Amino acid sequence: MPKHFLPQVLEDQLCQLFEAAGSRQAEARAVAANLVLANLSGHDSHGIGMAPRYIDAICEGGLIPNASVHIRTDHGMLLGLDGQRGFGQIVGKQAMDLAFERVRQHGACIYSLSHAHHLGRIGHFAEMAVEREWISLHFVNVRSRPVVAAWHGGDGRFGTNPCCIGIPMGLGPDRREPFVLDFATSRVAQGKMRVAHNLGKAVEPGTLIDENGHPTTRPGVVVVPQSNGRYGALMPFGEHKGFGLAVACELLGGALSGGGTWHQDADDRRSVYNGMLGIVIDPKAMGVAESFSSEALAFADWLKASPNAPGTDGVHLAGEPERAARQAKQKLGIEVDDNTWAEIVAAGHKVGLKI
Ligand code: NAD
Repeated sequence: MPKHFLPQVLEDQLCQLFEAAGSRQAEARAVAANLVLANLSGHDSHGIGMAPRYIDAICEGGLIPNASVHIRTDHGMLLGLDGQRGFGQIVGKQAMDLAFERVRQHGACIYSLSHAHHLGRIGHFAEMAVEREWISLHFVNVRSRPVVAAWHGGDGRFGTNPCCIGIPMGLGPDRREPFVLDFATSRVAQGKMRVAHNLGKAVEPGTLIDENGHPTTRPGVVVVPQSNGRYGALMPFGEHKGFGLAVACELLGGALSGGGTWHQDADDRRSVYNGMLGIVIDPKAMGVAESFSSEALAFADWLKASPNAPGTDGVHLAGEPERAARQAKQKLGIEVDDNTWAEIVAAGHKVGLKI
């Protein structure tokens, strides 16, 4: 039977788990809160279910508790940063804070971040920027396992390379809820396959190929090794165009950051490294604040005035589903399936904590 938890209860449990694994309290709390917020936002794939993997990565030495971001190069509005294998939730926020300083000085900042351990839900970073009425773009590569097939390729060659764009909608007194587009360039996020596999559910046709390159609806092909010891792969979203964006994320997040691209066979290591190119822009510094604000709102109104397509609930802008999920789940609590909970309990045992 799945369990329901109040968000605060889950956050406290995870905080204890990360402290037992070596994080100082502030770090443990920040990582726990970030994962719970992903669940609240409707993205269980990037929520508390990641905690056991983080614990394994710490035990293997691939994730370093209490590490901080290192400034490798500093050219004012251009920053080269190294996450030093620290928690992505921590070094990613430190990178954004550094970028924000530069935006205040120069109106924009372009930064690269290498060697961050898993950054989690990328939308969190964009939300930090839009909160300040700034635009934020993120191109990210993933080094852990080659789980996504190239367009017309028959096996996994790279990661789920997320892309995220946050745009404030209306500035100052006209401000409305922001546009936050945040997605994996695979047809679905890998973590959603773990969630579906744990629930014993099949997935949409067209999402996966098996270990022999044939289409399948079994999410387990990318979660557990198959009969021949190999894994299947996720398909890229948007056919050749989505594949192209995934390659761009690998080149910008991996090659340009200095963190590296994926070009090797899979191994069993549990760490997940993200490289990210981040661009933060203050629209006011562009000298078009007023028209940027009014044009964005006019376009949103125009879109929303479209009649509903039959059988749908009409047009939504990116960011709306996550906000709606947060409202609902704050009241209803977070559902955790048995497998995910058992994995969290087992992770506790590994670091001497009884959950
Ligand atoms: P998804 O397919 O659920 O798409 C989410 C995006 O689409 C959001 O911006 C959402 O607001 C928007 N959206 C959803 N329904 C919509 C609708 N009806 N109308 C308009 N917009 C709509 O997301 P995903 O691809 O499964 O990715 C989930 C999360 O996984 C993301 O937060 C991503 O950052 C994260 N991720 C992280 C990594 C990593 O290595 N750190 C890797 C892959 C994915």
